[in-house]
Amino acid sequence: MLLPLLLLLPMCWAVEVKRPRGVSLTNHHFYDESKPFTCLDGSATIPFDQVNDDYCDCKDGSDEPGTAACPNGSFHCTNTGYKPLYIPSNRVNDGVCDCCDGTDEYNSGVICENTCKEKGRKERESLQQMAEVTREGFRLKKILIEDWKKAREEKQKKLIELQAGKKSLEDQVEMLRTVKEEAEKPEREAKEQHQKLWEEQLAAAKAQREQELAADAFKELDDDMDGTVSVTELQTHPELDTDGDGALSEAEAQALLSGDTQTDATSFYDRVWAAIRDKYRSEALPTDLPAPSAPDLTEPKEEQPPVPSPPTEEEEEEEEEEEAEEEEEEEDSEEAPPPLSPPQPASPAEEDKMPPYDEQTQAFIDAAQEARNKFEEAERSLKDMEESIRNLEQEISFDFGPNGEFAYLYSQCYELTTNEYVYRLCPFKLVSQKPKLGGSPTSLGTWGSWAGPDHDKFSAMKYEQGTGCWQGPNRSTTVRLLCGKDTMVTSTTEPSRCEYLMELMTPAACAEPPPPEAPTEDDHDEL
Ligand code: CA
Ligand code: CA
Repeated sequence: MLLPLLLLLPMCWAVEVKRPRGVSLTNHHFYDESKPFTCLDGSATIPFDQVNDDYCDCKDGSDEPGTAACPNGSFHCTNTGYKPLYIPSNRVNDGVCDCCDGTDEYNSGVICENTCKEKGRKERESLQQMAEVTREGFRLKKILIEDWKKAREEKQKKLIELQAGKKSLEDQVEMLRTVKEEAEKPEREAKEQHQKLWEEQLAAAKAQREQELAADAFKELDDDMDGTVSVTELQTHPELDTDGDGALSEAEAQALLSGDTQTDATSFYDRVWAAIRDKYRSEALPTDLPAPSAPDLTEPKEEQPPVPSPPTEEEEEEEEEEEAEEEEEEEDSEEAPPPLSPPQPASPAEEDKMPPYDEQTQAFIDAAQEARNKFEEAERSLKDMEESIRNLEQEISFDFGPNGEFAYLYSQCYELTTNEYVYRLCPFKLVSQKPKLGGSPTSLGTWGSWAGPDHDKFSAMKYEQGTGCWQGPNRSTTVRLLCGKDTMVTSTTEPSRCEYLMELMTPAACAEPPPPEAPTEDDHDEL
């Protein structure tokens, strides 16, 4: 409590220096009542009794410091206990208390209470509070700086470890890629072989069915059963008519027989069947008792699923190899049922489905899949590691202020809720605004740069390229950093359209407080 008293002393002294009304202590020597008065601008010299005579003599108004006579004059309030103040001279005796000591209203009938002591006390209190905040904030800031120094070293160590580990992980990924590619070769070949075999079986089954259809048709056509189909016999099937007159003429029939008069079963299939198959109507179908050949059309017997047709030589070789391998690998696999078990009553639809892979092919697929999984897992780890490295590098090299005091804000977010919105600041990343009652957030900008004035660069941040305003610019936000003990967003405003202003209180913004005043000689060493 000693300090404020000391501060007050000079002011108390000031009151006792005799000088005309409205003259500041600094200027009192210009007003020596034993001499004529020279206007402060030097424009005139007048007898001293014209000072404060309520008549303006000096152009600069300096002869009337205590009256309202000069329009450009000014009145000095001493305001003992608070701050001295100059007011325009037209406020002297205007009925309004302008000076806290009330001296401007000495002749207006208005009684002004002297509030200077109270004001001074309040100001000293708030100054003390601010000084206390600054001291405490600065103490915290030093801790933040130390913390970041340590954290940064840790991160650097971690980065070096990761970078070293990355090389070996890369090698591993490459190794696993080779293993995978090696495993995929036999897989691919086995799958292709399986597919090829299946297609061949389908083609064979189709050809066989076709031959049977042709053979049945031949039997039907060969009315005299002499083993040939003649022009006449062919003519019993008028649906084979080629010129559209509804009857099969002899010439047409002969043309169908490639110019011959008759055909045997072999050349019937080779040369005639393709030309007539789509038109030919079996005699068995329309009416009548089921002819012996009838079921052949719907459910041909011999075409019955050759799905796993007898293994080709290749296949047999493969199976032998397979068995050999299996014996090496697992004993119990010998008991496994034979692969490609035939779907016995194969309906045409089922026939179109490729049968499951045989054991060997499946083994190749499983092995390749395992190799793929391992490769992909390693590749993912590598990507994660690369991302960690990138993040660390970015964080370590980030400009977190002169001593890294702002680093602690890096992975944090702070919110401020107003009547309508929730504002969110994630320092060095982004600012957003979300309607309080739900809805998607609007970006008010992503980190741009430090944006304080040249001498105080770290006093503000700029966030840019937020969501575009309708028919306007992209939103942006300036974040002003204020010294405080705690870290919190204290206000958000939109001073001009789509340009937001946010205030963040943080110890990191606290400047070093001035040393305590009036240190004694004894204190000196401690400082
Ligand atoms: Ca005068
Ligand atoms: Ca006044």
